[in-house]
Amino acid sequence: MRATITAAGDSGDKAWLAASAVPDPEIPCVTVADLGILRSVEMIDGVAVARLTPTYSGCPAVNAIELAVEAALLEAGFTPRIERVMSPAWTTDWITPEGREKLRDYGIAPPEKASGSIRSLFGEVEVACPKCGSRETERVSEFGSTACKALYRCLTCREPFDYFKCI
Ligand SMILES: [Zn+2]
Repeated sequence: MRATITAAGDSGDKAWLAASAVPDPEIPCVTVADLGILRSVEMIDGVAVARLTPTYSGCPAVNAIELAVEAALLEAGFTPRIERVMSPAWTTDWITPEGREKLRDYGIAPPEKASGSIRSLFGEVEVACPKCGSRETERVSEFGSTACKALYRCLTCREPFDYFKCI
């Protein structure tokens, strides 16, 4: 599943650019496009219709993201409308390769692919350290700085890091 640009000429492109640059409120190093949350931006009768699929249901960031995309479109001179698309459900597989790279640079281990992830003997996902790449890591806490992340520690370089939980 990839985000699609459903554009009616230049204005659709501009609307997509404005909306896709909105950073995630919880992880400002990545944009809503990087995370695959922004599904499409389409010009319908002069209205920029942005379709968003929330990440974790009940994540308090959902409303903040919708408001931020709406504000970005308004600022770019569009009349925005936000549509929440619940199906198909978002998965961490929608995070773009560029988004994964940005997460790693930020010190957050990007989610392992939901399909075919490596699991250790204890049924936990093996997570690679974003700093040194070691797979010798342990989970410290189910919840990191936000509910969407878990706190891990690298046993090789001793650094704690957040892991973007896989769903
Ligand atoms: Zn490490």
